[in-house]
Amino acid sequence: MRRKVLLDGQCEVCHTDVESLSHIFWDCAFVHEVWDVSKLFPSNSRVHFHSFMDMLWYGVMEADWEQTKIERIVMVAWAIWNNWNKIRVGGTKKSSQQVVYSALDFLAKFQEGVCAASVPSSSNQTH
Ligand SMILES: [Zn+2]
Repeated sequence: MRRKVLLDGQCEVCHTDVESLSHIFWDCAFVHEVWDVSKLFPSNSRVHFHSFMDMLWYGVMEADWEQTKIERIVMVAWAIWNNWNKIRVGGTKKSSQQVVYSALDFLAKFQEGVCAASVPSSSNQTH
Protein backbone atom coordinates (compact mmCIF):
# COMPACT_ATOMS: atom_id res chain seq x y z
CA MET A 1 0.00 0.00 0.00
CA ARG A 2 1.41 3.32 -1.05
CA ARG A 3 0.75 6.50 0.72
CA LYS A 4 1.50 9.86 -0.67
CA VAL A 5 3.56 11.63 1.91
CA LEU A 6 3.29 15.36 1.90
CA LEU A 7 6.42 16.83 3.32
CA ASP A 8 4.85 19.91 4.62
CA GLY A 9 7.08 22.92 4.52
CA GLN A 10 9.71 21.47 2.21
CA CYS A 11 10.79 23.43 -0.83
CA GLU A 12 8.96 22.05 -3.86
CA VAL A 13 11.79 23.02 -6.18
CA CYS A 14 14.96 21.62 -4.66
CA HIS A 15 13.49 19.32 -1.99
CA THR A 16 16.45 19.97 0.26
CA ASP A 17 15.34 22.72 2.56
CA VAL A 18 12.38 24.09 4.40
CA GLU A 19 10.51 26.59 2.35
CA SER A 20 10.53 30.13 3.62
CA LEU A 21 10.50 33.45 1.87
CA SER A 22 14.25 33.78 2.16
CA HIS A 23 14.66 30.28 0.78
CA ILE A 24 12.32 30.91 -2.15
CA PHE A 25 14.03 34.14 -3.16
CA TRP A 26 17.66 33.63 -2.19
CA ASP A 27 18.70 30.33 -0.68
CA CYS A 28 17.22 27.79 -3.06
CA ALA A 29 19.76 26.28 -5.46
CA PHE A 30 17.39 26.95 -8.34
CA VAL A 31 17.05 30.60 -7.40
CA HIS A 32 20.83 30.92 -7.26
CA GLU A 33 20.83 29.87 -10.90
CA VAL A 34 18.11 32.38 -11.74
CA TRP A 35 19.99 35.30 -10.18
CA ASP A 36 23.14 34.07 -11.84
CA VAL A 37 21.51 34.03 -15.28
CA SER A 38 19.98 37.46 -14.67
CA LYS A 39 23.45 38.95 -14.05
CA LEU A 40 21.77 41.53 -11.85
CA PHE A 41 24.14 40.82 -9.01
CA PRO A 42 27.90 40.31 -9.25
CA SER A 43 28.41 36.59 -9.81
CA ASN A 44 30.82 36.20 -6.92
CA SER A 45 28.60 37.92 -4.40
CA ARG A 46 26.44 35.80 -2.18
CA VAL A 47 22.93 37.09 -2.74
CA HIS A 48 21.10 37.13 0.50
CA PHE A 49 18.66 39.46 2.09
CA HIS A 50 16.23 38.70 4.87
CA SER A 51 13.34 40.10 2.94
CA PHE A 52 12.53 41.71 -0.31
CA MET A 53 12.22 45.06 1.42
CA ASP A 54 15.71 44.66 2.86
CA MET A 55 17.01 44.15 -0.64
CA LEU A 56 15.23 47.18 -2.04
CA TRP A 57 16.38 49.26 0.89
CA TYR A 58 19.96 48.17 0.30
CA GLY A 59 19.69 48.79 -3.44
CA VAL A 60 18.11 52.19 -3.22
CA MET A 61 19.66 53.62 -0.08
CA GLU A 62 23.11 52.08 -0.02
CA ALA A 63 24.14 50.65 -3.35
CA ASP A 64 22.49 53.39 -5.40
CA TRP A 65 21.13 51.05 -8.06
CA GLU A 66 19.71 52.50 -11.22
CA GLN A 67 15.97 52.41 -11.63
CA THR A 68 16.21 50.01 -14.58
CA LYS A 69 18.15 47.56 -12.45
CA ILE A 70 15.59 47.75 -9.66
CA GLU A 71 12.78 47.18 -12.16
CA ARG A 72 14.54 44.09 -13.47
CA ILE A 73 15.18 42.71 -10.01
CA VAL A 74 11.54 43.20 -9.06
CA MET A 75 10.41 41.49 -12.26
CA VAL A 76 12.75 38.54 -11.83
CA ALA A 77 11.66 38.16 -8.20
CA TRP A 78 8.04 38.24 -9.37
CA ALA A 79 8.82 35.56 -11.95
CA ILE A 80 10.52 33.42 -9.29
CA TRP A 81 7.43 33.72 -7.12
CA ASN A 82 5.12 32.99 -10.04
CA ASN A 83 7.13 29.95 -11.12
CA TRP A 84 7.25 28.66 -7.59
CA ASN A 85 3.49 28.99 -7.17
CA LYS A 86 2.94 27.07 -10.40
CA ILE A 87 5.18 24.26 -9.21
CA ARG A 88 3.21 24.07 -5.98
CA VAL A 89 -0.02 23.40 -7.84
CA GLY A 90 1.65 20.77 -10.00
CA GLY A 91 2.79 22.86 -12.94
CA THR A 92 6.03 22.38 -14.75
CA LYS A 93 9.11 24.16 -13.55
CA LYS A 94 10.67 26.65 -15.92
CA SER A 95 14.40 26.65 -16.42
CA SER A 96 16.35 29.45 -14.81
CA GLN A 97 16.82 30.98 -18.28
CA GLN A 98 13.10 30.85 -18.97
CA VAL A 99 12.30 32.54 -15.67
CA VAL A 100 14.72 35.39 -16.34
CA TYR A 101 13.94 35.92 -20.01
CA SER A 102 10.17 35.73 -19.59
CA ALA A 103 10.38 38.27 -16.77
CA LEU A 104 12.54 40.69 -18.74
CA ASP A 105 10.43 40.21 -21.85
CA PHE A 106 7.29 40.94 -19.85
CA LEU A 107 8.92 44.07 -18.43
CA ALA A 108 9.89 45.29 -21.90
CA LYS A 109 6.37 44.72 -23.22
CA PHE A 110 4.87 46.38 -20.18
CA GLN A 111 7.06 49.44 -20.65
CA GLU A 112 6.14 49.64 -24.33
CA GLY A 113 2.50 49.47 -23.31
CA VAL A 114 2.92 52.19 -20.71
CA CYS A 115 4.54 54.47 -23.27
CA ALA A 116 1.85 53.73 -25.87
CA ALA A 117 -0.91 54.36 -23.36
CA SER A 118 0.40 57.66 -22.08
CA VAL A 119 -2.65 59.58 -23.20
CA PRO A 120 -3.56 62.61 -21.14
CA SER A 121 -6.21 61.60 -18.64
CA SER A 122 -9.55 63.16 -19.38
CA SER A 123 -11.54 64.12 -16.36
CA ASN A 124 -15.28 63.87 -16.33
CA GLN A 125 -15.61 65.07 -12.82
CA THR A 126 -17.95 67.98 -12.26
CA HIS A 127 -18.28 70.08 -9.21
ZN1 LIG B 1 14.59 25.11 -2.71
